[in-house]
Amino acid sequence: MNTNLSPEHVRALLESCGAYQEGHFELRSGRHSGGYVEKFRLLERPEVASELCRALAETWRHAAIERVAGPALGGVIIAYEVARALGVPCAFAERAGENLEFRRGFVFRPGEKVLVVEDIVTTGGSARQVVDAARAAGADPVGAAVLVNRSGKPLDLGVPAVALLDLDIASFPPEECPLCRDGLPLTAPGSKGTQKEKAGR
Ligand SMILES: [Zn+2]
Repeated sequence: MNTNLSPEHVRALLESCGAYQEGHFELRSGRHSGGYVEKFRLLERPEVASELCRALAETWRHAAIERVAGPALGGVIIAYEVARALGVPCAFAERAGENLEFRRGFVFRPGEKVLVVEDIVTTGGSARQVVDAARAAGADPVGAAVLVNRSGKPLDLGVPAVALLDLDIASFPPEECPLCRDGLPLTAPGSKGTQKEKAGR
């Protein structure tokens, strides 16, 4: 069975569940952009998330991975599904002040080969912290795999890393936004995706 997915196919799957949308968006920062990613639209669709996680698992199947680990919250689901595809256990790391750490009684064998997974990487901070947490727990984080790298830069997670899809989404200050200039209706996705013009009514 060929479970490798092309970036075009990955993008189509994300669009099919509304996890990636094109249009004219006002981001929480106040900047405007022509694309918007909402991972929870993917995580609420097990059949789509599971297909993407199987493809993620294939990228590291050669590496004799012994456990898959991800950052809570979204990474719990991704780690679980990738681990299922690889036939190994999973674990998840949780916020502890500035860092992430493994709680809940997760114990790693010394040198256990761990694959770190993440859904959508914006800065890479969480995935990098899972790499650090796995090392701190005595394991050997050998690599990372993420569904979408939307940082606009190559992944820098402290271990060799692959992404199923790279998205470089430009954003603009409102006064310089070409989509405003074209008169496209503006959407504020944080407020249930309703059009902004309607929000005050
Ligand atoms: Zn705009």
